[in-house]
Amino acid sequence: MGLFKAIDLNEEKTDTAKSKGVEHVKCLILGSGPAGLTAAIYAARANLKPVLYEGIEPGGQLTTTTDVENFPGYPEGIKGPEMMEDLKKQALRFGSDIRFGLATKADLSQRPFKITIDEEKVIEAESLIIATGATAKYLGLESEEKFKGQGVSACATCDGFFYRGQDIAVVGGGDTAAEEALYLSGLCKKVYLIVRKDYLRASRVMQERVLNTPNIEVLFGRVTKEIVGDSSGVNGAILLNNKGEEEKINISGFFVAIGHKPNSDIFTPALDTDEVGYIKTVAGTSKTNIPGVFACGDVQDPHYRQAITAAGSGCMAAIDTERFLGEVGAAK
Ligand code: NDP
Repeated sequence: MGLFKAIDLNEEKTDTAKSKGVEHVKCLILGSGPAGLTAAIYAARANLKPVLYEGIEPGGQLTTTTDVENFPGYPEGIKGPEMMEDLKKQALRFGSDIRFGLATKADLSQRPFKITIDEEKVIEAESLIIATGATAKYLGLESEEKFKGQGVSACATCDGFFYRGQDIAVVGGGDTAAEEALYLSGLCKKVYLIVRKDYLRASRVMQERVLNTPNIEVLFGRVTKEIVGDSSGVNGAILLNNKGEEEKINISGFFVAIGHKPNSDIFTPALDTDEVGYIKTVAGTSKTNIPGVFACGDVQDPHYRQAITAAGSGCMAAIDTERFLGEVGAAK
């Protein structure tokens, strides 16, 4: 894995969000990861004239990864930012109106829904597709930022393959960390699981699996002081034990698994969420508790969090939206 050159996805940005006033749209999509852009492709092809606001991270989480090798259709893999640029081009080709801007307020009390963009422009939307994603939590270390994409990752399924046969560390003590450690134990020589408390928060069954896996070593009562490396990437981490003593482990990958935060704050309490904030959808659909509001991608998915599942749920959201607008007579 090497450093990638960030691709500017905002080339075609419009300044519509900057002009004040109210605009009425049939289908508003928030978010520009695989879920939002797939929803835009389907909605545009269904003549819903979707308007999509990209949000704070145009292209979503995949723009912070390097190679994507598990998205079907790319036998040689593809760079995350490049894939998102392709998806955006595909959505634009069918007439999606893609804009730079962040939804800062949402009034979902009645239709049309009123969504405020960048705290100034109001969009009245007959239907709303929320694809605002989730943000992986990081420890907040300077060295972690420095080696992101060069040994530091927040997704074992995405990046684990690059560390086959090597020694790596996972930080966190919940179910995600346990799951990531178990996944990586099948690929890597040794997995250190760095847990800040003296116990795991993960469910009993996951704890047992972790503790019974010979190539996982759980380091209880340790916090990460620094991730170390050189121009070719990470080669170690300095930990502090609960006596305040420093310990060094030699690793080439550092996986952060301390939780995700779904980007759903502006939609609560109007929308039902779980205790973490993931938007609840009716099983097998993208429908939320408010008719006409649909959710797709990581903002409603605490389990899979993959580009392909996000894209699939984006497709579902567009189809659900099309049917909804047809039913309420707002499709024309
Ligand atoms: P959790 O909030 O459950 O766990 C986060 C873990 O990270 C905790 O052990 C926490 O430590 C640790 N942590 C948080 N901040 C730091 C930090 N700054 N430094 C070091 N460690 C830190 O998040 P998960 O993502 O694991 O799980 C979220 C939800 O999703 C849970 O309800 C979980 O059960 C569910 N889930 C279920 C799965 C399944 O059923 N297969 C798979 C994955 C998730 P501490 O304990 O000290 O607070």
